[in-house]
Amino acid sequence: MKRTLIKNIAQHITETIRIEGWVDVARDQGKMAFFDFRDATGKVQGVVFGKPDVLEIAKTLRPEWVVAITGIVNQRPEKMVKEGVQNGNVEIEITGIEILNKAETPVFEITESTVDINEEVRIKNRYLDLRTERMHNNIMMRHRVAKLCRDYLDDQGFLEIETPILTKSTPEGARDYVVPARLSPHQFYALPQSPQQYKQLLMAGGMERYFQFARCMRDEDLRGDRQPEFTQLDMEMSFVNEDDIMELNENMLINIVRKLYPEKRIQQIPFPRIPYAEAMEKYGSDRPDIREDKDDPNLLAFCWVVDFPFFEKTATSDDPQAIGEWTFTHNPFSLSKPEHIENIKNKTNIADIIAAQYDIVLNGYEIGGGSIRAHDPEILKSILQILGHSDKKIEANFGHMLKALGSGTPPHGGIAWGFDRLMMILQNEKTIRELIAFPKNGEGRDPMMDSPSFIAKEQLDELNLSLKELPKK
Ligand code: ASP
Repeated sequence: MKRTLIKNIAQHITETIRIEGWVDVARDQGKMAFFDFRDATGKVQGVVFGKPDVLEIAKTLRPEWVVAITGIVNQRPEKMVKEGVQNGNVEIEITGIEILNKAETPVFEITESTVDINEEVRIKNRYLDLRTERMHNNIMMRHRVAKLCRDYLDDQGFLEIETPILTKSTPEGARDYVVPARLSPHQFYALPQSPQQYKQLLMAGGMERYFQFARCMRDEDLRGDRQPEFTQLDMEMSFVNEDDIMELNENMLINIVRKLYPEKRIQQIPFPRIPYAEAMEKYGSDRPDIREDKDDPNLLAFCWVVDFPFFEKTATSDDPQAIGEWTFTHNPFSLSKPEHIENIKNKTNIADIIAAQYDIVLNGYEIGGGSIRAHDPEILKSILQILGHSDKKIEANFGHMLKALGSGTPPHGGIAWGFDRLMMILQNEKTIRELIAFPKNGEGRDPMMDSPSFIAKEQLDELNLSLKELPKK
């Protein structure tokens, strides 16, 4: 018999059906046995009575065993109907049980939220954790939001394009993860901190509108809620200005909330735009939490923060023009506001240069950021010089970008969302790990796979690598 999904059972009242899934709850009551069964689409109750051979098998079933159940779908008597519960009006009268797989007793209850269970245990047994309703729902909603974004962007003429994972370092301000290149001894690929350069090179390639759910890797200390790898919804567009990008993103966010989170209220539309200086002065933060009511789990207060300073002083010298004593606040590929371009070219009034940059903030979290980029190679070169790069280093690290910009690259700009964080807020969770199917723990390890791990001497030899002795503790 063909399988019926649990969500569709109520369409089969009086019929004999077959379901396949897990034993969620088993209650042995002597002459009867009651069950909740579960598959990815939901739960249903089942009961065995008056069938000694079936009852005998039924009594052996334990939670998390995988079973195929045949039975008749009965409507429950009126006063037994569970209002508001999936399949609350039906019950399966079990006529046959096939055990597809047994299971050891799970280390935590699958029928309850695991939010308070030791997280190391949860990550180590992630496949069990993912079976819980809360985690299942988090991952499903992540899919739904991603699907809506894909459809929305497709509709707006964007192409979803993959960019390399084995790449060259892109300066986003963090340490790179590196991968030894066997075919180029002593050389290393870097894993992308973001697809920043590639997405700009796609604009040089005439793609005009790009997006990607991009995995980004940054080797940072895992303070707070950071993960060594995380997901950005990454976008880049040609022939646009800041307003075009902000409007498109704002509409997409509003669409997500209206279609997938109708119970939530957006505090203000259009999203307020707060200059950086005002945010710092009024809220003491460049990601202000402007919620009118911080106790309301269904209030979404989006705002844009704009007019960021382009450069930030890193060194102590008092010379405000000193070249090489500056770092970028967002990324080195940004452009300034049009009125500051001369200052970039002449390397003057560096502290006053405002970037054509925007961050999107939700309930006090930065959920995305982007900028209009420098598409004139002379301007990018000047920015890199302000940052203190020698001409030799500029050529070695950014020569390909300068060459591409000089090949007829259109004006362009983009943005990237921290997709895990956005989902965390929408799902009212406290950490992004609740929205990632397989997160790393606080030490950046995957205790389930036991990774990272040592590799064999032969592998090291193949890579022409040898390991240094570790300092004695
Ligand atoms: N690459 C930038 C980041 O990761 C986002 C952007 O400017 O589009 O923050």
